[in-house]
Amino acid sequence: MADLKTRILEDIALTGPMPLSRYMNLCLGDPVSGYYMTRDPFGHGGDFTTAPEVSQMFGELVGAWLVAAWQALGRPSRTRLAELGPGRGTLMADCLRSLALEPDLMRGLEIDMVDMSPTLIAAQQEKLSKVPCPVRWHGTLPDSDLPTLLIANEFFDALPVHILVKTEKGIAERHITASQEGKLGFADLPTKLQISQGQIDAIPTGTVFELSPERCDVAKNIAAGIKANGGAALLIDYGYVQPKTGATFQALTNHQMVDPLDQPGEADLTALVDFTSLEKCFKSMDIHVSEPVSQMDFLLNLGLLERAGQLGSGQSQEMQTGLQQAVTRLVSPDEMGTLFKVLAAASFDDPMPGFQKSS
Ligand code: SAH
Repeated sequence: MADLKTRILEDIALTGPMPLSRYMNLCLGDPVSGYYMTRDPFGHGGDFTTAPEVSQMFGELVGAWLVAAWQALGRPSRTRLAELGPGRGTLMADCLRSLALEPDLMRGLEIDMVDMSPTLIAAQQEKLSKVPCPVRWHGTLPDSDLPTLLIANEFFDALPVHILVKTEKGIAERHITASQEGKLGFADLPTKLQISQGQIDAIPTGTVFELSPERCDVAKNIAAGIKANGGAALLIDYGYVQPKTGATFQALTNHQMVDPLDQPGEADLTALVDFTSLEKCFKSMDIHVSEPVSQMDFLLNLGLLERAGQLGSGQSQEMQTGLQQAVTRLVSPDEMGTLFKVLAAASFDDPMPGFQKSS
């Protein structure tokens, strides 16, 4: 089969310029050459490092949150735990250690892992091979008639965005074009995206902004399950709360920004998550939604410092320094602390741990 760039050029030659959202989908998820389909992108040797890969404390605290959510649900005897985009399976493995402190929860637990990457699914299967409850793998979130607890860390940023520009003549959308010589480029062309007037009324002409109906559809699907059978979802990602305009779409290779058009399928393509829009998508389904908080507030509220103290107590200086570095990485405003946000949606209205504002 031809390489991904050649196939993208053929596609553009046949059907015309390609919306950026479709380009992002192909580059990340093409079954043969998509970025996630062919590699394990995490860690120092990889393109980026995620919070669960920084420290086991991240997953343990997410697990503590899940236990609190299960209690708020009335301690159902059977529960489905789902994770979207589980990477190497580290977050799930770490949070199950916290869930194990509640034998009634563990006894009735079933796990649904949702991923599209054969490489990462293999890593997840190995990591979870000894888990004492049923674990199943799927390409998309399956329906369930059980109450659902759901987690997703750095999943929504990998779903496609549309970059739009408000012009005098209407809304233009960023497309990928091809030159005679086969070089990819960008052009802003009339959009086929359905945009409600309310979404753009307040935006001044000339403004560039991003929308992702794809992300909203996933949020609504989660919300529908929670509404039908009870449940709670925790979404963590790098993103912003409005007002914000401009394009945040970017490509990363080896922890460095690169040209997103240079080698399709070779770089991680992402865009910041618009948490205000996600919040609205959940609210439109009539379930309870927290206001987004920073990862810093969330982890400190859940006891990150206490957990680091426990793990470090009586351990070597090297181990304690490692724990301090992990804490800094996770919550410092210069690192992941404020860029990363956390949103919770639930069938119940109890205040959720982690969501108190620190100031
Ligand atoms: N949550 C993990 C990994 C984040 S990377 C962590 O925090 O370390 C994104 C993950 O989402 C990868 O596992 C990738 O394979 C998966 N993914 C990305 N887009 C997806 C899609 N459209 N459908 C299913 N899985 C997807």
